[in-house]
Amino acid sequence: MSLNQSIKVLFITPEITPLLKTGGLADVSAALPAALRDHKVDVRVLLPGYPRVMDGLKHKRLLATLTDTGVHGEVKLLEAELPGSGVPLLVIDYPPFYERDGGPYLDHNGLDWVDNAHRFALLSKVGAILGSTKSPLGWRPDIVQCNDWQSGLTPAYLHFSPAPNAATIMTIHNMAFQGTFPASLTTPLGLPASSYNINGMEYYGQLSFLKAGLFYANHITTVSPTYAEEIQQAPLGFGMQGLLAHRYLDLTGIVNGIDINEWNPAADKLLDHNYSVDNLAGKAANKRALQNKLGLTENPDIPLLGVISRLTHQKGLDLLPTIASFLLEYPVQIVILGSGEAGLEASFLQLAQNHPDQVATVIGFNEALSHQIEAGADIFLMPSRFEPCGLNQMYSQCYGTPPIVHSTGGLVDTVVDATPENIANGTATGFIFTHATTHGLNECIHRALDIYRDQPTWRKLQSNGMRRDFGWNKSAEEYLALYEMILKSF
Ligand code: ADP
Repeated sequence: MSLNQSIKVLFITPEITPLLKTGGLADVSAALPAALRDHKVDVRVLLPGYPRVMDGLKHKRLLATLTDTGVHGEVKLLEAELPGSGVPLLVIDYPPFYERDGGPYLDHNGLDWVDNAHRFALLSKVGAILGSTKSPLGWRPDIVQCNDWQSGLTPAYLHFSPAPNAATIMTIHNMAFQGTFPASLTTPLGLPASSYNINGMEYYGQLSFLKAGLFYANHITTVSPTYAEEIQQAPLGFGMQGLLAHRYLDLTGIVNGIDINEWNPAADKLLDHNYSVDNLAGKAANKRALQNKLGLTENPDIPLLGVISRLTHQKGLDLLPTIASFLLEYPVQIVILGSGEAGLEASFLQLAQNHPDQVATVIGFNEALSHQIEAGADIFLMPSRFEPCGLNQMYSQCYGTPPIVHSTGGLVDTVVDATPENIANGTATGFIFTHATTHGLNECIHRALDIYRDQPTWRKLQSNGMRRDFGWNKSAEEYLALYEMILKSF
């Protein structure tokens, strides 16, 4: 089957690698459409034309000028290709909303842009126009897949638009971000007053973009089967557990893949030394290089624990400083790369200052260093309180760096705990702890360190992880099967 006879999908996202990334959604938005195109799905990605998107795209062509979008003046729709994969992009060129310095969601002071409701209602609206009979394009999607709250209004707009329309999927990457705004915006955003209802997009006295998506979409997906279960209950349903439990037959969890071209220790250009499961010498060399670069004692035998993360409550890293003061009495090193809550940044900087030979803290976002930590660390720490899917635990396994993870969401679905049974049957790839407490994490770190000292067993954990296939192929097949199922009953 050629692409032009196949299922057509409009994939709406607020961020995409390599143009603009604040989290895992950017990686998914680049890799999943590419993998789907390999399966002959005709996917096009719709996103806002922030400066970094406009500057990062070489050949942009004007496709259409949209009116009736609810904003003043013309909205231009440009066509381009994503650098690297060539995935077709549809870029919304509307400078009053998107041409500004700062982040995609936050201003220079770290506060939400005051017009975020309008900025992302426009993204949602354009998605809805393209999925309806009003589309000015020759190309009409069968399915519009919305990702997180920023495109949550698309299913609502389509629900209230005359048929025939595309089917809609609301994909949840993180329930913690809900896009809530004053209820008074319902009419200004072009939605009927009746939609502001408990059976609609009302959420505790406000209007929620995410709830709109979850209520009006034909189907809901999220990024792991365990998270799909967890969000049907408090607390991880964030108040929407009732709706999600009610819609459980329309809710599917599909684990994200990773970009195995970018995250492959044998070919990773950001590493000083490449290596593979058959020859781990390069991993030891990367460890030495990392210790040297960050001013840690250069010693191959000291276990090095790596962290790469947003430093927020979700990620559970507030558990680490308390444990570290005891842990650092042992020969252990810790490298932390991340940014986020000021208090956590300060604790990790203080820890590094108190133990300069054992702890290095780098505040900021640094793609190259994140690869070097995955390669140079012995153990990766990911004690997230909740984790819809998570990517670093998969990168870690590919890089021979068994992860320590909390038993939640996608972490459970992608890491196999080193129980005696799993070690014996050759499936163990990391360490899972049940309670997100200092005690739980501490015990698990010591369990991992005990096995680290048993090098033959450690090598097995490394090789079990490095041999796993975390590529997008399997996930893309699951999405394709889901699209077919949705279209059959639509
Ligand atoms: P989330 O999307 O919740 O932040 P994920 O694990 O799904 O968490 O994805 C995070 C992505 O961002 C990973 O690719 C991770 O390597 C990357 N990342 C997070 N913090 C940093 C940082 N400070 N520097 C470089 N990469 C980072």
